[in-house]
Amino acid sequence: MMALRRSASTPVLELDRVSKTYPGTPPVRSLREVDLTVHSGELVAVTGPSGSGKTTLLNLAAALDRPSAGSVRLAGQPVQDLPDRRLAGLRARHLGVVFQRFFLLDQLSAVENVAAGLLYRGVPAKERRAAAVEALHRVGLAHRAGHRARLLSGGERQRVAIARAIVGRPSVVLADEPTGNLDSATGAEILDLLRELNSGGVTIVVITHDARVAAAMRRHVEIQDGRIVHDEERPA
Ligand code: ADP
Ligand code: MG
Repeated sequence: MMALRRSASTPVLELDRVSKTYPGTPPVRSLREVDLTVHSGELVAVTGPSGSGKTTLLNLAAALDRPSAGSVRLAGQPVQDLPDRRLAGLRARHLGVVFQRFFLLDQLSAVENVAAGLLYRGVPAKERRAAAVEALHRVGLAHRAGHRARLLSGGERQRVAIARAIVGRPSVVLADEPTGNLDSATGAEILDLLRELNSGGVTIVVITHDARVAAAMRRHVEIQDGRIVHDEERPA
């Protein structure tokens, strides 16, 4: 298998004094001057209680939403000034996202769902399919490639979603509560898979309210009331 580990010192995601305020009376300050840099090869857990700003952080890091203040760089590129089309291209090249609720297309097969992860990369259909089969192999689901997504178990569906996120070999994968819809045994398997993919060179940020998930990751960032209150790396 091709290992695509970039230099350990390359920042793939940089949040610089990022704030997000939602309008209202009173306005909701979801993120407050957050500084966060993720380097290539890292495995990071971001934890915090419900309402602490985790999903807001993911949406900004994934350039799905724009900060009220501060800047976000993806693979060294500031995202806030890019026109939508360039932003879509940057996201397609450098970002994989995994959600709690999988977001697969139920009527499509596993391999078709994964190949969809390359739609915006300008990869010809045949190569998309070959890359999708390889990605399913990496998540241990090669034997389910032809199954309709709706016939798969929850754990299998999340594996397909992870394969879709990694198929384009992005600079960073962001996962929002990836084990949140799974029973604890299946959740533990998904965590093992994320760790294994990271050992193979995939940079991963897992966002979760589950402290057990954080215990499984080398670097642990804790967020409370929209602020990072703790950012610690365990020695390997
Ligand atoms: P978490 O993912 O940690 O549970 P969120 O990032 O979803 O937290 O939310 C952080 C805070 O921002 C919460 O108080 C939430 O109600 C508020 N919030 C999130 N999204 C919006 C929105 N689109 N409009 C208004 N308030 C929002
Ligand atoms: Mg959330």
